[in-house]
Amino acid sequence: MPGEAIDQLVLLGELGLDGAVRPIRGVLPSVLAAARAGHPQVVVPAANADEAALVEGIEVLAVRSLEEVVAHLAGRRVLARHERAAVPAPAPAADLGDVVGQSVGRRAVEIAAAGGHHLFLAGPPGAGKTMLAERLPGLLPPLDEQAALEVTAIHSIAGTLPSDAPLLTRPPFEAPHHSATMAALVGGGSGQIRPGALCRAHRGVLFLDETPEFPRAVLDTLRQPLERGEVTISRASGSATFPCRAQLVLAANPCPCASAAGDAACTCSPLERRRYRSRLSGPLLDRIDLRVELPPVTRAAWLDGLGEPESTAVVAGRVRRARAVAAQRLAGTGLTLNSQVPGRLLRGRFAPPRASLALAERALERGALSVRGFDRVQRVAWTLADLAGRTVPGADEIAEALGMRLQRVAA
Ligand SMILES: [Zn+2]
Repeated sequence: MPGEAIDQLVLLGELGLDGAVRPIRGVLPSVLAAARAGHPQVVVPAANADEAALVEGIEVLAVRSLEEVVAHLAGRRVLARHERAAVPAPAPAADLGDVVGQSVGRRAVEIAAAGGHHLFLAGPPGAGKTMLAERLPGLLPPLDEQAALEVTAIHSIAGTLPSDAPLLTRPPFEAPHHSATMAALVGGGSGQIRPGALCRAHRGVLFLDETPEFPRAVLDTLRQPLERGEVTISRASGSATFPCRAQLVLAANPCPCASAAGDAACTCSPLERRRYRSRLSGPLLDRIDLRVELPPVTRAAWLDGLGEPESTAVVAGRVRRARAVAAQRLAGTGLTLNSQVPGRLLRGRFAPPRASLALAERALERGALSVRGFDRVQRVAWTLADLAGRTVPGADEIAEALGMRLQRVAA
């Protein structure tokens, strides 16, 4: 009964003129849809078989040619169900212990990971901005099964799924260049719509190095999708919506001449410096809770002392505990991270004790802190309290959070 079999069967793949069945993008979401629609079997290109076999409740048959499909349907050579190879453990991520002499930066990525805060790193070339950003995903909890399938499906459609890793289990890291087009950053393309770097960073980290070099329009475009957690891309061929709950890390040099020696060797005019920094203000920067200025690494190393830097495993343990405490406190609000707490709750149910806030209130009165800035200080202070094992932020936590706000870059 080949006809009946064909009715039940879903065939995926690209057919070559020679009859070869070639791999395609987007196999995982297609197979998920087929399984949901009640199809018992799917035939996929052999190269996509491990990816397809991630889906429960549907039998995967792997083929290399059309001839194999025909022989199977005719009952001449029946294909066996494809068994997925064990998902290999991902290669160890870059370790935070490798970042020597940057205690300020290491502290910043720990806080960002614990509270889910977007992070802005300012500092001279060689201060370790990229190294620090690359280590943030390793501090985040691994993806649970649902999240892993979501992230893998996006990379499957984008065509960026590594052939040796059918399932992505770690938070992804995406670092588009400042010359990237809007389509490369957000999504688009001709023909089949491809998710951009923002979507590929879903449940992971989107790193924009040399942020002031990105066109302002591009930066402003990111704000709304980041707030909503999803982006809809429309083309003549149709539209597609992808999730994009990514954590943002922005990095910038202190000025356009980017002197590694710091301010003393800067050759920029005051106007050039002002113009450069003005590119760092606006609706996107307004969403960044943590703004940290990294000292040049030689001085930082000295300030750091000679202690061995903590490893990713040690810091990730603190991050996990802090996240658990925050999630428990926020239970019932629909939120899990301090970065998500709206101002309304920070002034109500989650207001730090009045006595702790004295320093921040004075900054507010002086005009050194905006009302939104005041909220951001409180969000960060809650994360600092969670990391320190305190039930509420004290004056110390408010002071440290203020120090991460009142920077001369993009204050
Ligand atoms: Zn300069």
